[in-house]
Amino acid sequence: MLTKEEQERYTRQIILHGFGKAGQEKLKKAKVFLAGAGGLGSPVAIYLAVAGIGTLRITDHDKVELSNLNRQILQWQADIGKNKVKSAAEKLHEFNPNTKIETTSETIDDKNVLKLVGDSDVIVDAMDNLPTRYILNRAAVEKKLPLFHGAVYGFEGRALTVLPGKSACLNCLFHGIKMPAEKFPVIGVTPGIIGCIQATEVIKCITGQGELLTNRLLTYDGLQMKFNEFRVNRDPYCEVCGDKRKR
Ligand SMILES: [Zn+2]
Repeated sequence: MLTKEEQERYTRQIILHGFGKAGQEKLKKAKVFLAGAGGLGSPVAIYLAVAGIGTLRITDHDKVELSNLNRQILQWQADIGKNKVKSAAEKLHEFNPNTKIETTSETIDDKNVLKLVGDSDVIVDAMDNLPTRYILNRAAVEKKLPLFHGAVYGFEGRALTVLPGKSACLNCLFHGIKMPAEKFPVIGVTPGIIGCIQATEVIKCITGQGELLTNRLLTYDGLQMKFNEFRVNRDPYCEVCGDKRKR
């Protein structure tokens, strides 16, 4: 049930066609696991919190640094040196005290990922490196949870939604390719745009609206100001999600 305060707070989305109080209650019941409270994680968390997601469970092992502030909009000048998740939780509480924020300041690895995801309903990949994205992808496939992938580089970004067992997973797309860890360029508007796309997908998925970004890799080029879409097919031999994979 929505409180009177919630009904007023979310009026503009409750009146959305096909959304209604039922859609709002679905958001309220939902628990979202967010991997990363940085450039992508900030807009994802802010827009999910203001939309009324019931619980946001955020993991990030980093502390806030001065060089984060050009893009990590949940992290402010006074937060330098604090745990990113702690500082993020303080801001998110101010955005919407109705959203419960659970935080862990751990490095996501193969051993702890299932514990960290816990009883979340969906997983958001707001990471900055491919190895952790693969870990999240495997966890999503194992737990059969939707995964919302987003990535940025400079003025460019991409997004893909994965419904395990139904659509291509990250491994169907990348096939385990390795990329060297590097300090890559980012202008803050790019994760702003891609993070908002991920948050849109989460809201659509939880409320059961629209067409999800499955089997379609959306790419964004800020310099040309173009979005493109590439068909991605589920690989039956995919080492992670394939039905015909060698066991
Ligand atoms: Zn796959």
